[in-house]
Order: sequence, then C-alpha cells, then structure tokens
Amino acid sequence: MKVLKFGGTSVGSADSILSVKKIVEAENYQPVIVVVSALGGITDKLIYASKLAAQGDISYEKEHLEIVTRHINVISGVISEKQLKDEVTCHALSLLDELGNIFKGVYLIKDLSPKTSDTIVSYGERLSSYIISKVIDEAVLFDARQFIKTSKQFNKHVVNMDETFALIQKTFTRLPKVAVVPGFISSSQEDGEVTNIGRGGSDYTAALIASALQADGLEIWTDVDGFMTADPKVISTAYTIDHLTFVEAMELCNFGAKVIYPPTIYPAFHSNIPILIKNTFNPGAKGTFINKDKENRNEKSIKGISSINDTTLITIQGLGMCGVIGVNYRIFKTLAKAGISVFLVSQASSENTTSIGVSDADAELATKVLREEFAAEMTHGEINDIKPEGNLATVAIVGENMKHTPGIAGKLFGTLGRNGINVIACAQGASETNISFVVARDHLRKTLNVIHDSFFLSEYQVLNLFLCGIGTVGGSLLEQICMQQPKLMAKNGLKLNVVGIADDKIALFDRNGIDLKTYKERLKKEGIMSSPEILQKEVLEMNIFNSVFIDCTASGQIASLYKALISHNISVVAANKIAASSAYSNYVELKEIARRKGVKYLFETNVMAGLPIINTINDLINSGDVITKIEAVLSGTLNYIFNTISAEIPFSKTIHMAMEARYSEPDPRIDLSGKDVIRKLVILARESGLRIEQDDVIKKLFVPEKYFEGSLDNFWSNIQEMDAEFEEKRKVLEKDQKRWRFVAKMENGTCSVGLTEVDSAHPFYDLEGSNNIILITTERYKDYPMIIKGYGAGASVTAAGVFADIISIANIR
Ligand code: ADP
Ligand code: ASP
Ligand code: MG
Repeated sequence: MKVLKFGGTSVGSADSILSVKKIVEAENYQPVIVVVSALGGITDKLIYASKLAAQGDISYEKEHLEIVTRHINVISGVISEKQLKDEVTCHALSLLDELGNIFKGVYLIKDLSPKTSDTIVSYGERLSSYIISKVIDEAVLFDARQFIKTSKQFNKHVVNMDETFALIQKTFTRLPKVAVVPGFISSSQEDGEVTNIGRGGSDYTAALIASALQADGLEIWTDVDGFMTADPKVISTAYTIDHLTFVEAMELCNFGAKVIYPPTIYPAFHSNIPILIKNTFNPGAKGTFINKDKENRNEKSIKGISSINDTTLITIQGLGMCGVIGVNYRIFKTLAKAGISVFLVSQASSENTTSIGVSDADAELATKVLREEFAAEMTHGEINDIKPEGNLATVAIVGENMKHTPGIAGKLFGTLGRNGINVIACAQGASETNISFVVARDHLRKTLNVIHDSFFLSEYQVLNLFLCGIGTVGGSLLEQICMQQPKLMAKNGLKLNVVGIADDKIALFDRNGIDLKTYKERLKKEGIMSSPEILQKEVLEMNIFNSVFIDCTASGQIASLYKALISHNISVVAANKIAASSAYSNYVELKEIARRKGVKYLFETNVMAGLPIINTINDLINSGDVITKIEAVLSGTLNYIFNTISAEIPFSKTIHMAMEARYSEPDPRIDLSGKDVIRKLVILARESGLRIEQDDVIKKLFVPEKYFEGSLDNFWSNIQEMDAEFEEKRKVLEKDQKRWRFVAKMENGTCSVGLTEVDSAHPFYDLEGSNNIILITTERYKDYPMIIKGYGAGASVTAAGVFADIISIANIR
C-alpha cells in the first residue's frame, strides 16, 4: 500500500485534477490512499475573506463568491456526466453555503475566534477531497477529522500521536482500492472541534497515515521536479537532487525549503518509509528519493541550501556572564515557557554572549520575557540591555557528507567575504550536517546565489559584468565578448554574464544577462535614463555576486564612482586613465580598498593599450627587481601625427586624421598638450614605486598653451596658425635625417615629457604609424633594457586589453 499526497497546485485546476486522476488510476496493482490539499490558493483566500469579515468589511462576499465560482467551475471541468455533475455541484454548494453563513456570522459580530477560523479554513480540504473522490474511479472518501487528533500545547494544536495512530489503524483496517483523505484538517482530542495541523500540513497528514499503516512508500506530488538544490523561485539554476537522506531532507525543509512541510519527515523516518517527491505536471521526471541510505559516496558534500528570511537575532551579552552557570538554562527555560521556538543558537567559548535566532513574529515577546528574566543582572550591569536585531535572514547549507570533510566552512565564508557579505552569527552542530548563518535580509538573494554558484555550479564560474561606455572601445569589447562567450564557457568553464550596459544617456540592467547580439535594440526599447548617480545606485542595488564594473569612458565622474564600487566588493577594470593618474592619495586608496576587499582594480590598458606593460612592471617589482629608468613613446596619436606630417600634409591636418582614425582622445587637446602622456607616465612611475603627481612631471611642449584655452571650436580654427612654423622645422629635421618623437622619461626619481629629435641609431627612430614603444631599464635588465613595442592605440587592441583584465579576474589561466 502506498500513500500519495497531491498539493494545492496539483489539484488547482480541472486539468491538473484530471492529471491526478490519471496518476492514481495508473496505480492499479495496489491500494492507495490519496491525501489532497485544498485547491491552490483557496486556503489563503479563506483566511483573507475571514479577516475582511471580522473587520466588518462586506467585500468578504466578493471573496466568497470567487471561492464558490472556482469550485463550481472545477466541477464542470472534471465531471462530464450530467447526473453526477448535478449531484456533486449540489453537495459542494451546500458546503459553500454553510461557509457563507459562517462568514456572515463573523461579519455581523466582528469577531473571529481561533475556533471559527479553523472551521473556515477546513472547508478548503473538505471541498477538494469531496470533488476528487468523485472523479477518481472506485474512490471512497474518508474524513480526516475522525482520525487525526490534536491536543493543545503552548496555544498550538499538536498531533496526539498515540491516539492518531490507533484511529488511523482502526479506520483503515480494510482498505478500499482508492481512499481519498482531506489533508491538513484534524479535530481536537479534548472537544472534537475542527482543528488543523499547520499551513502546508497535508504533507504531514500523508506521512502520519503512511507511518501508522507501515505503507510501502509515501509520494509527495507537487509542482516541481523534486527537492532542488535551492528554491527554484530564487535560484534559476537550481536543479533536482536525486537522493537525500532523511536527515538531509529534515535539515533542508526545517529551514525554509517549502517543498515539504517539516514535521512530515519524522514519522516517515521513524517507520523507515521512503519518500518520493514527484511532479504532477511532469510525471516522467525521476523526482527525489528520500530514505535512510548514505550509500552513495560520490554525492556532493553539500546537498542543498535553504533559507528563512524572517529572522531576528537576540543577543544576551555581558562580561558578568563569563563562567556563570545556568545563564543558558534560564534563557531557554524562559523562551520555552513563552512557547517561543529558537532555531539558531550561537555562543562563543568566552561565554560572554549567547545569540539566539527567532522568527520576527516571536521577537517582541522573546525580548520582553528575557528582559524580565534578567532584569536584576541588567540593573547591576552584569548583562547589557537585551535588544532584538531585525531585518535579517538565516541561511543553511546541508549535507551528511560534510562530516569530516575539511574546508567546507572555509569555502563558504571565503566566498561570502569576497562578495562583501557580512556573516552576523553562525552555528554548526557537531553532527556536521548543517552550517547555518545569519546575514542582512538585503543580502539574502546574493548570498544564496554565491553559495549556489560556488558549491553547485563549480563546473563553471560566473562573472557578472557592468559596462559603462559603449563608444569605440566599449562597443568593440562587447563584440569580442559576444564572440568569445561560447568558447570561454566550453573550454574554460567561464560564463561572462553582461548584466548592465550604459553610456552617458541610456542604461539597461538585467540580472539574468543581456544578449549581446540584440543589446542595441534592447537599450533603445527598454533603456532607462543614465547618469553617474543612477549607475552607482543601480549597480549597488542589484547587489549581484562576482561582479565587475568596466569603465570604457573618459569621464572623471565615472572614475569617481570606483571607490564606492570597490568598497562594495565590485572589481573595477578601467580603460579610463583618470583615476589611476588622479591625486596619488586617491590612487593608493583605491588599490588599498581593493586589496582589503579581495577584489581587483585593473587598468592595464591605461598605458600602451593592449600591450602588457603594467603587468610586466608588476611582475618585475614583485620578483624583487628595481626599475631604474623608463623611456617611452606613449602616445599613439602623437606618434601618428609625427609620422604623417609631410610637405603635403600640414600639422593641423594630421590632427584631424588622427581623430578620424580614432587614435586620439575624444578631445584631441588632451593628446597635443601632453596631458595624456603625462597621465600615462605618472601611472607607470607609480606602478614602478614612485610617489608622484601630474604636476611633478617636467613638460616641454610643442604647442603653446594659448591653443588649449577656450572651446574646442576655437582650437580647431586657430591651430592652423601652427602649420607654417611646423613646416619650417620639419624641413630642417628632414635635412638632418632625424625624426620627432614625443618621449616620456623616468630617471633618478624625475619624470619628464617633451618633443625629442632622434636619429636613425635610436630605437625610437623606426616607430611606425601610431605605435608605442617602451624601454625599461632595471637592475636585472641593465645593459640591454627590456623593449616592448606595438600598437599603442586603437579600439580593438584596447578592448582586447580590457578583455584580458576581465579574464584575469576569473583566474582561469
Ligand atoms: P504543494 O502545494 O504541492 O504542497 P508547495 O508550494 O507547498 O507545494 O511546495 C512546492 C514549492 O516549494 C515549489 O514550487 C518551490 O517554489 C518551493 N521550494 C522551496 N525550496 C525548494 C527546494 N529546495 N526544492 C524544491 N522546491 C522548493
Ligand atoms: N491547504 C493548506 C495550506 O495551504 C495545507 C496544504 O496545502 O498542505 O496551507
Ligand atoms: Mg506544501
């Protein structure tokens, strides 16, 4: 014999009831007991309507009418034979009528006693079980109130096991082929009044029957494929667990995994009846099998994650508690007397604090009774004021294989720390099957995601990317990511999930990832207004794990967001040079916060685009080398200009050409004034260990300052004045067989930039197009400096450098 329980959604509509009929009738080789919930959502509606009635709100009638209509519609959907349909409708209507009269009574006297409330909610299961018993062939209806008996404990109805087991055995001495039983409802041992065994209690009804009758199996039919690694409504990547032990199932459902009502496990465990969780809407799925066996040694050490978000932590603390015997005894005795359940306890070995986790509903009473109990100690200062801390959530990771496996707690807390999630309290019992911890409620979603990702999706790693700036570099970066995504996933187990894209006008955020093939259309259609403030707010509020902010703008306002972002454990990859070349104190602070938070602040492309300069300097320094001199051509724009200038192409034209080729900064004056090179040199010098500001760099400029004053339009109209002077100088240079290079230099702690004439013997002489070159002299590379040369500007190489920074955060190399 088997017991099958069908939940609210499984009996929620005519179609689903017909699926139930099919499933039950397919079990034709043995008797079955079918336990059913109320039609999905009806219990909530009954409670809501009774509250309205109790408040004297006539709109309860509308709710009642909806309840009536729902049942009548279901009946017409599941029974086609006219006579039977009339009979069932007639009986259901008489029950619904009774219900209407009770509502009316509540409405008139504006009072809803617990007894009346229990009576009202019982109609949900009474109606559903009646209808279903008429739909399934050869089914016989039983009334659970006759054999599920409750007694009162701390104002709660608790099942009276002995009485209930005896009555179940008596009721089912002879089993029909199909017995249909309403779940959830019961009656009081003391006065026979209708009671219930708690929200979600139909699972428990089924387990009690299965246990009392020593059933061969208990099947819980619901709306998911089984017990999953986490609540699928929160974690979209959660997947079904094939097997759980009773202990694991108990740990998980006790802690919020709503798929089974917690008290359900114990009777099944006690009588060793295996439980199978199945999906009414996908009966072919294997489901989750729960039994005693721990035989599968290959199973993961963590089986599942569960959480409850209504958590209040109450801490009893004081130096006067150390070593005093009986403090904990008094805490728990006091709470037990008040009927308060404690679901998490944490006490440090110094014994001066004990923190307890209770549900928000119990917080006020718990605080009050504890304050009363410890009033004397609080007056004497032995114990501090007892205060509840709310807005918290408790998370548990569960698995019997955690036992004796070192490193689980390390992995758990390390993952949380890297993502900026603070653990407020934690508890692990010596049974090592559950580690529970408390976090701020606002962090719950992120917490569940990072843990799920780190323990269950270790086949691949996720980086969540926000990109600001979709100009030439940002646009090219998105193209490159789009092309590489499948390869990185398949070969490196790295999922790059772009969750935000913004420019200075428009922004789009989607925590599930933006498809890079269609991002432009989506931005146009769904984009919201963008500003640095909006961006910061959205990114921080999204509070998503393993996130990276990518700055492909040249904006100072965006650079000023880094501090807040890094402080919230978001890595920053910047093509934008402004932050790293800003005040030294700011540069150091950003690096320091990133180090402390365990995230990255990377800006390899700030100097020489995609060429590996900053990483190389870091590698040299970290391995003990000392950089004594740097000589470099760092401006692709300027080098292009000096390579292009000729008798036919005047100076001002070369600037236009550099812009058209997208080498220059959006404002070319940043290049011509040497500012861009100064920024790069300052960054190189700082990375080489020099404490330097932009103003410390000695500059020898080739365009007088006056051209940089005023608007960009003024600049364009005036700069032509320089053409003749340049042509004069160029002719002389050509005659001397020399070339111009704009050289940045660091030597003996001094930095300078300036236009230099180099002859054909100089390594800078043959530097083509917009290329860059750097000569690094160190104590190890003394006689022959290290030379790195190549494209120093251009959207695709810069984007590739940014991409490489992103990949280095994932650490997949
Ligand atoms: P029923 O009405 O069939 O009793 P419930 O709504 O009580 O169904 O329980 C099933 C729901 O439990 C699922 O729809 C799912 O959202 C939720 N749930 C929470 N945690 C888990 C988990 N770890 N695995 C599966 N489902 C879960
Ligand atoms: N109908 C009840 C509830 O919604 C019991 C159950 O569905 O298990 O809580
Ligand atoms: Mg349920």
